[in-house]
Amino acid sequence: MFSEDLLAGETAVVTGASRGLGEAIAYRLAEIGADVVLTARSADRLEAVADGIETGTGSTAVPVPGDVRESEDVARVADRATELGDGAVDVLVANAGANFHAPVAEISENGWRTIVDINLNGTFRYCHALVDALTAADGGRVVTMSSVVGRDGAAESGHYAASKSGIEAFTRSLASEWAERNVRVNCVRPGLVATPGVEENRGVTAERIDRSDVDRTLGHPDEIADLVAFLVSPGASYVTGQTYTAEGVPDGAD
Ligand code: NDP
Repeated sequence: MFSEDLLAGETAVVTGASRGLGEAIAYRLAEIGADVVLTARSADRLEAVADGIETGTGSTAVPVPGDVRESEDVARVADRATELGDGAVDVLVANAGANFHAPVAEISENGWRTIVDINLNGTFRYCHALVDALTAADGGRVVTMSSVVGRDGAAESGHYAASKSGIEAFTRSLASEWAERNVRVNCVRPGLVATPGVEENRGVTAERIDRSDVDRTLGHPDEIADLVAFLVSPGASYVTGQTYTAEGVPDGAD
């Protein structure tokens, strides 16, 4: 769908790249020519994903373990990416995220803070750490990750919904600020997608997906990766500050 050299010579950072959507996005960006820096907490899984990307695509994939809640970790990832890109980072995909299901009455303050810290503050930390490198790219792109829950809200996901809504508002604000830096900032808002996180929470798998069927209630990670690839491509050169929904039918996913 996208040409192999679309992002040739570019450097991309993908957070939450050890599995699920982040892994699929990192693979897709590498497949269309970008060198990728992958980050998440689990070093072993990151290493395996990076090996798979290098073998499968021929692009460079550098695993840098880190927690999006730790500014020092974020700075280390940003430094490594800036070094790889000779001072410029072309693409940031702030995808890392987490959730647990609980009614608001039972969410502890610590539980609330943890989800907001990973999803919303983690997105801020990466944008903040990479602002100079994205500006140096002279045409940088950021893609943030919301959820249809950030639009609709959902019972037992008040903390998650608030963090994702915040990401959408942050995206619009950042796009206004960074237009003068020639950095486009957009957001992807998936419905339910078959990733390990969703399999753990809901017991559904990608094997259920049949695109010859009209029943589009479950997405494949590659379908989200394609939307991200479009948003960072020259085809989206007139698009900034927007949130794009990828949802087969309205279903209230997380
Ligand atoms: P997964 O749970 O499968 O993967 C989450 C990724 O984020 C992992 O790589 C995980 O790695 C990383 N991560 C989690 N916490 C941290 C942290 N503190 N620091 C660094 N990395 C972290 O999630 P999905 O792939 O399903 O979701 C990816 C994104 O898409 C999330 O933002 C999610 O909210 C959003 N989304 C997903 C939907 C779905 O249906 N799958 C629907 C709507 C939105 P590790 O554990 O190694 O740190």
